Amino acid sequence: MPNPHPPPLTPHPNTYLWCDACRRSYGHDDAPDGRCPVCANPVRPMGKVSAIVRGLMANELVASDLRTKHRQLVRLIWTRNGMGERYYKVLAPDLPYNRFEARVTELLCQGAEEGWVRFVFPPAPSSNDAAYKVEFDDEERFVREMEALFMPEEKSTGR
Ligand SMILES: [Zn+2]
Repeated sequence: MPNPHPPPLTPHPNTYLWCDACRRSYGHDDAPDGRCPVCANPVRPMGKVSAIVRGLMANELVASDLRTKHRQLVRLIWTRNGMGERYYKVLAPDLPYNRFEARVTELLCQGAEEGWVRFVFPPAPSSNDAAYKVEFDDEERFVREMEALFMPEEKSTGR
């Protein structure tokens, strides 16, 4: 009897196989046994557009570039106008400047995460440097953390 819906020329037109573990898609030829060629978890068929969009979203989620850029922006904000060098000269820590800069940047990022530091950004990129700033909700905390980082001997005798 005639089949009212003849099979398409290719068995899986416009579908891909998606691996939830790897968060990426494969062609049917790459996973003939229905398992991810990378991690061997079962893959599931997914429409082409859906697979592409999911792949893009997955890349977005793992991209570390934004995080790196964010950190660079934080570093640029607190070190601008020679402030980084001034802190460095005053504190005279026993490490090269670039490592000092990285550690203070890390401290400020940590402070922002914990809520005692705030970074203020203009809503759109601005030529007004003053629109970018660090604000301290707890200046004492910053001073204490800086002492702990760069003057460990004073901290140990002071407490
Ligand atoms: Zn996989």
